[in-house]
Amino acid sequence: MKIICVGRNYIDHICELDNPKPSEPVFFLKPDSSILKKNQPFFIPEFSNEIHFEVELLVKINRLGKHIQEKFAHKYYSHVGIGIDFTARDIQKKLKKQGLPWEKAKSFDQSAVISEFLPLSDFDNIQNIEFSLKHNNDLVQKVNSKQMLFSVNFLISYISKYLTLKIGDIIFTGTPSGVARVGKNDTLSAFIENKKFLDISIK
Ligand code: MG
Repeated sequence: MKIICVGRNYIDHICELDNPKPSEPVFFLKPDSSILKKNQPFFIPEFSNEIHFEVELLVKINRLGKHIQEKFAHKYYSHVGIGIDFTARDIQKKLKKQGLPWEKAKSFDQSAVISEFLPLSDFDNIQNIEFSLKHNNDLVQKVNSKQMLFSVNFLISYISKYLTLKIGDIIFTGTPSGVARVGKNDTLSAFIENKKFLDISIK
């Protein structure tokens, strides 16, 4: 399986990092070795002094597809989850400046936190789901998926022009504003609507 992460999909987050608004989706990959299964501790890696959390809504692909039309994209997923895209922001800043690929900053071990998945039938609409993150019990990120710049169906259509989507692939759909650095002994908890799905301690 692969993990496809969408960057710059909420305006307020684009502004907080001083990035230009994209005219088409930005995406990158994380390998399966980056997965941190729910509720295991996250260990700050020695190569970064600025690990940021980014809470994101996830969808899991349930059909093989290539060149998927946007109007059929809803047939390619039936479950939604929540995750954290851990990012070594200090390294990413350097790589961005030099125009280099982001893997060292985005794809390291434990950088993809993935919750259990819920059936979409629990919700009215993938584009109307509220999700949030608490950092040491303070609410720091909260958004409704209706605020995505590019909808889930558009993203699936766009990504599948370039990559064959396979059963079990997971898409991280972008983070809203409020990202920040984690420190040792911090805690992160992630919620879909009012239900907690992740509880991570930072070591
Ligand atoms: Mg992200």
